[in-house]
This record gives sequence, structure tokens and C-alpha cells, in this order.
Amino acid sequence: MEAATLIKPKHEATRNHLLFTDEHEDLRESMRGWVQKELYPHRNEWEEATWPSEVMRRAGELGFLGLCFPEQYGGQGGDYYYSLVRAECMSYSGSGGTNMGFAVQTDMVLPPVHLLGTEEQKQRYLVPGIKGQKIGCLGITEPGAGSDVAGIRTKAVRDGDDYVISGSKTFITNGRRADFILLVAKTDPEARHEGITLFLVDLRDDEGDRVPGFTVARELEKMGMHAADTCELTFDEVRVPAEAVLGEIGKGFYHISWELQAERMVAAAGCVAGAERMFERTLEYAKEREAFGRPIGRFQAIRHKFAEMATKIEAAKQFNYVTAWRYANGEYPVSEISEVKLFTSRMCCEVADECVQILGGYGYMKEYEIERAYRDVRLNRIGAGTDEIMLEVIGRSYGL
Ligand SMILES: Cc1cc2nc3c(=O)[nH]c(=O)nc-3n(C[C@H](O)[C@H](O)[C@H](O)COP(=O)(O)OP(=O)(O)OC[C@H]3O[C@@H](n4cnc5c(N)ncnc54)[C@H](O)[C@@H]3O)c2cc1C
Repeated sequence: MEAATLIKPKHEATRNHLLFTDEHEDLRESMRGWVQKELYPHRNEWEEATWPSEVMRRAGELGFLGLCFPEQYGGQGGDYYYSLVRAECMSYSGSGGTNMGFAVQTDMVLPPVHLLGTEEQKQRYLVPGIKGQKIGCLGITEPGAGSDVAGIRTKAVRDGDDYVISGSKTFITNGRRADFILLVAKTDPEARHEGITLFLVDLRDDEGDRVPGFTVARELEKMGMHAADTCELTFDEVRVPAEAVLGEIGKGFYHISWELQAERMVAAAGCVAGAERMFERTLEYAKEREAFGRPIGRFQAIRHKFAEMATKIEAAKQFNYVTAWRYANGEYPVSEISEVKLFTSRMCCEVADECVQILGGYGYMKEYEIERAYRDVRLNRIGAGTDEIMLEVIGRSYGL
């Protein structure tokens, strides 16, 4: 055995991580191959045009959207670790915006439909969602309320057998392309947490036209995640049947709080995998780029940056896996999920910053892709609950 192998034996090459079986690893191999072959080559064009919705349909055909959903709805019936593998594989796309659009579908919109939906709602949204034939978006945030979910103003007023929805939502990922929205609205505008209800609202009719009263008011320009469509949506007396309610009336805040845990878990997995990809690309560069007669990676200052990054990435990864294990085994570890979301978000932003630094001027250039990753990963400290909100959740868990 070579000395280098002895110092850092590659356990991953010989033995699965204790969370993953051979079946998980088979999925990893096939899905990573697909991402590298069918997504990665398009990463630059999708920064301009956003990812095409056909890609979601293709993922559905290949069975990558329903990994953890029951077979009766077209899923694969796998455990939660398949979702982790899926998120890790998507990191090979080189396109944070595409990964985010997919995660909205697989880990944010469809799980609440599965958990809370009636059989009719499952047939209408979960089944075509798993096939990639219907794309969903999630509408929590409003121009006047983000972190303070109970402060939303979008209202759904009962009118006979229907509800009439009015209000606006902003920063909505998949907002332009979506066929339906998982909408958070007030059914009792006087109440805060107890006045919220979830709705599944069709945004398009059978011909694919937008439903009356619904408009995409603006497509927003962003710092990063350019491959994703991020929109402001307006609802002007959009009429939906009472069957559009998802879960219990007045329990929407608690339902969406449950959804947010999965959102934070998938964000954390994306952060760790994204950091790994940045590390690998930068390591390659540091072995090739020479200064003062040697590869820059051979300067102690640079070598130590890699050592620091590797340590942080590994710590974040294992923390994420242990939290996923608890989640997969039926616990609801809100505080740990918040910690892992906070820790991995900060970690991947630090790694991105160090990688730009190691690449020097090339780190600032678009062609080296670290520049894009640096902009894309910054969202993680804001989306799915900001750092400050995570700190609040964690701090309060100590009775403070
Ligand atoms: C690219 C992108 C995509 C997104 N996609 C979606 C989507 O698909 N669906 C969706 O619903 N939302 C989406 N969001 C919205 C995102 O979840 C919110 O931006 C986030 O929750 C923060 O809300 P806010 O932007 O309104 O900030 P605010 O809540 O106004 O917060 C502003 C600042 O105040 C701090 N702050 C707020 N409250 C407290 C407090 N109690 N203690 C300490 N500090 C506090 C925050 O941490 C932050 O630093 C997206 C956002 C972006 C940028």
C-alpha cells in the first residue's frame, strides 16, 4: 500500500457510510451519471435561460423525483436516505438554480401533499408531480412578511363552496413555470398562527393558460441561482373549491413548520455536497497552478486552507447524516435540524470564499465556476430560514 493511502485510507471506496446500503449507492451511481451527462453540460446556457421544464419530466421518467414516496403513487418507496443521495447527486449539475428548482418539487411541495393530502389531492398533484408532469412551487413569503410567517396578509375568504384568494407572494422559486402552488394563506386575518391554512391551487387550466386572477407580476433578478425562475405572484380574487384546502383549516402554520424541517434538511445536504464539489475543483487547481516554482497547494498557507475546509466539510457532513438518521427514524429534531442548517450554510459560504481566494484572479472569473458557486451558496444563509431565525430556534430550545 502506498504511504499516501496509509495516511488517508479511502474508507468510502471500500465500505458504505453506515447510513447507506448498496441500493443507495446504486442510485448514487446512476443518478450522478445522469446529472453529469444531461445536466452539467447545460449549466452555462441555463444561467441565461433558466432550466427547461422538460428536464423535470425526464427526471420523473427516470424515477428520480419519487424516491421516498410509496409505489402506489408512482414512487420508489425508499427511505429518507434516498432523498439525501438525490440532493448530493444534484450537486454535480454545476447549477445551483436547477438544484433549487428540483428541491422545491421533491422535498418541499410534494411531501406535504403526501402527508396531508386527501386521496384526490394525491392523485391530482402527487402522482403527476412524481412523474415530473406537473411542477409545483411553494408560496410562503410575501413582500411584507418573510421570517415572520404569521404576519402574512394573503387571505382566503370562504364564499359558499369556494374560497376566494387575494394577495401576493414574492421570491417564489419555480413561480413562472409552476402548474400549481402550495399556498400559505390567512383564513382568519385577525389571528396570527391559528389563522393560517394551506391550499393547493392550480395556476394553470387544462389548456396550460394561467387561471383567472393569477398573474406572475415580476420575474426577479438575483445575485445568484440564475438558473432558477424566482417570481412575485399576484392573486386577485382567485376562486378555488373548498377541496383545495390541504390539511386542517387553521393549522397551516404548524403544517408549514413541518414542511420547513424537510426544506432545511435538503438545504443542508446541498450545502455539504456543494462544498465538496468546490473543494474538489479547487484542489485540482491548486495541484496544477504554479507560483514561485511550485504548485500553490504546496505552500503551507494554501495547504492549511484545504485542511481547514476538509475538516469543516467532514464535520458538517457527519452532523447532517446523524440528524438525517434521527429524522428518518421518526424523530422531529427541530433544534438539531436548525443547528445543522445554520452550520452547513455558514460552512459552505466560508468554503466558497476560501476557494475564490485560492484561485486568485481566476476565482473571480466566470469560466472557473467558483465565482458562480460563491454567489449561489450565499442564499443558504437566507432561504429556508435565515441564520438569525435558526439561532432563535436553537436558543429558545434552551428555555431562553
Ligand atoms: C432566491 C430566493 C428563493 C426563494 N424561494 C422561496 C420560495 O420558493 N418560496 C417562499 O415562500 N420563499 C422563498 N424565498 C424567501 C426566503 O425564504 C426569505 O427570503 C427568508 O425566509 C427571509 O425572509 P425575508 O427575505 O422577508 O427577510 P426578513 O424576514 O425581512 O428578515 C430580514 C433580516 O432580519 C432578520 N430577522 C428577522 N426576524 C428576526 C428575528 N426574530 N430575530 C433576529 N433577526 C431577525 C433576518 O434574519 C434577516 O437578516 C426565497 C428567497 C430567495 C432569496
